Amino acid sequence: MGALKVKVVARILQANDRIAEENRRRFKEAGVFVINLMGAPGSGKTSLLEKTITALNGRLRLGVIEGDIAGTSDAERIGRLGTPVVQINTGGACHLDANMISEALPDLPLDKLDMVFIENVGNLVCPAEFNVGEDMKAMVLSIAEGHDKPLKYPLMFRESSVLVINKTDLAPYTDTDMAKLKADAASLNPALRVFEVSCRTGEGLDGWAGWLAGLR
Ligand code: MG
Repeated sequence: MGALKVKVVARILQANDRIAEENRRRFKEAGVFVINLMGAPGSGKTSLLEKTITALNGRLRLGVIEGDIAGTSDAERIGRLGTPVVQINTGGACHLDANMISEALPDLPLDKLDMVFIENVGNLVCPAEFNVGEDMKAMVLSIAEGHDKPLKYPLMFRESSVLVINKTDLAPYTDTDMAKLKADAASLNPALRVFEVSCRTGEGLDGWAGWLAGLR
């Protein structure tokens, strides 16, 4: 029974990776750089995207794929900024997979975009396990989530190239040990690039946006 289950899981991941490669080919053909943005519910993924869109206005043409279990509120927030956006509802699944992204692609004007953000379902576990054809995984962690998260959810920190620590304005109201948080994240992934930002005050967003602009 155990062996069968392992086999089935391996097959699902293999099938996913095949579709992810196809997505990657389509992104490359269109000249689009794709970032898979992960993080817990409430970490500020959509807020970061809103601020990023505003900061990069005129520098990069952005598109967004929104992944949520239910609802369209995030896509509506992005759409209000005039940015092409597609909402995926997973109907219960705790992550986006490559097939969901494949089905969303016809609704994005890829040839007119420089960069696409895929906002994954709010979750620190499963999104890190599935490639969707992205060039890079990035994660958002709010300072209010605490410094214990890297060692409790190591895969996401290992898979991510970038960690955006959000809500730095809340630092005086939390007991989060930033030095420990960053040291533990670095121990899991020495190459992890860290940005400290506050989407509320705007602190640190210039550095993040400037770095993104340099990726293209
Ligand atoms: Mg969101």
